[in-house]
Amino acid sequence: MGATERLRFRNYVVAQDLMVNREFRARCVSGSETECGAESALSEDIKVVDQWIVQHFHDTGHDAFRREIADYAVVRAGEWL
Ligand SMILES: [Zn+2]
Repeated sequence: MGATERLRFRNYVVAQDLMVNREFRARCVSGSETECGAESALSEDIKVVDQWIVQHFHDTGHDAFRREIADYAVVRAGEWL
């Protein structure tokens, strides 16, 4: 899987680096004027992040979160045009 981009006479392919695990993190965005801002640890296991969300909800009643999902990308030069 990858996307092909064209840059001056040559194509390049950008794809997820499958040798590196994706990373997940959650931040609590509860609060009307200022958000709580509490953050989970970075984890390669989304279940760990979701468990943190449940624990934070249990402790605070906060129920809105932003989850980040990060991956790593590699690029390869493709054919000349
Ligand atoms: Zn919170």
